Amino acid sequence: MALRPEQLLRPEILALSAYSVPPSRGMVKLDAMENPYRLPPEVQAEVGRLAAHTALNRYPDPLAPALKARLRTFFGLPAGSGLMLGNGSDELIQILALALSRPGAVLLTVEPTFVMFRLIATWTGMAYEGVPLKPDFSLDLEAVLAAVERRRPAVIFIAYPNNPTGNLFDRSALLRLIEAAPGLVVIDEAYHAFAEESLLDALERYEHLLVMRTLSKLGLAGLRLGVLMGPPAWLEQLEKVRLPYNVSVLTQVVAESVLQRSDVLRAQAAAIRRERERLACALGQRPGVTVYPSRANFLLFRVARARDVFEGLKRQGVLIKDLSGSHRLLADCLRVTVGTPEENERFLAALDASLSAATSPARSHGHSDLVPIAPPKP
Ligand code: PMP
Repeated sequence: MALRPEQLLRPEILALSAYSVPPSRGMVKLDAMENPYRLPPEVQAEVGRLAAHTALNRYPDPLAPALKARLRTFFGLPAGSGLMLGNGSDELIQILALALSRPGAVLLTVEPTFVMFRLIATWTGMAYEGVPLKPDFSLDLEAVLAAVERRRPAVIFIAYPNNPTGNLFDRSALLRLIEAAPGLVVIDEAYHAFAEESLLDALERYEHLLVMRTLSKLGLAGLRLGVLMGPPAWLEQLEKVRLPYNVSVLTQVVAESVLQRSDVLRAQAAAIRRERERLACALGQRPGVTVYPSRANFLLFRVARARDVFEGLKRQGVLIKDLSGSHRLLADCLRVTVGTPEENERFLAALDASLSAATSPARSHGHSDLVPIAPPKP
């Protein structure tokens, strides 16, 4: 008889549902916190030239010294801190968990937050503790400290700003948490460009603190480059778990070059921050819509019949994220990534149509009175 996966795979893997990336071809794609802007033509041309001259027949340099030097300057890394590169920050989370997964070791975070923390804990056999946020999504410091005391986590992950809620936790609360932690604390600053707040300056004060950044939200999601920064003594050990060629030659040369145009990246982030404020305001004016304050490049909002609204948007060619079934604090919540002004207008128009359809009596007969809007330009 044929061997079945259930006979060999770990039960916790069999019980997982795969991280799903929905098809988005031809849609207004506002589901994944990407930067909607392309690079200017002269930077694109330089990327093309560099790619053409890269020795693709050779393995990448595992030390990536040129890129690391550039990242140090770009992030303003304190002199005594080191950095390690990952294939996206996802991979860095995985490296940390792999290295820390002694029997019984606990990964602690808050909930709702970035789902990869829980998934990766499961993959690597770490125990997982998710401490609920308060209903306004702020940190419940007393509850977190109590859980830390009880579980003695090997690592605490905090997304700052948090995904999917978009808020920044109180800095002094985070410092208290760092002081109380018996293990490592990783501050995941994936959305730093839109928050302009950081705990990077605290690296020199704490031997058990690491700060993680990514180029993904800055406009280079396709490159896959994450950076873990902190005490060299920790990074040296973690390097042993990193696959030697995890950052491709193309990623190295392209990132190194594009980071020289930090003016372009910063201007795009500033445009996204401005557009976030405009979109938050427009959303907040819609009757029945509650929008939460965001320091990231996305907005979390609550609306009655969120699932229907999400499906209505999808039918009109606008893809956002439905979080309504993901956590009890996120009932009826949807998340939209801030796009270009045109994309945001299309989203708002589609939302208005979905809102009226979701509340109209025609719904109960299964009719859709949504008028599809023209598909987006490629
Ligand atoms: N951390 C947080 C909080 C995120 O939201 C994301 C992406 N959604 C990541 C890390 C992963 O980013 P990367 O593309 O660098 O793997």
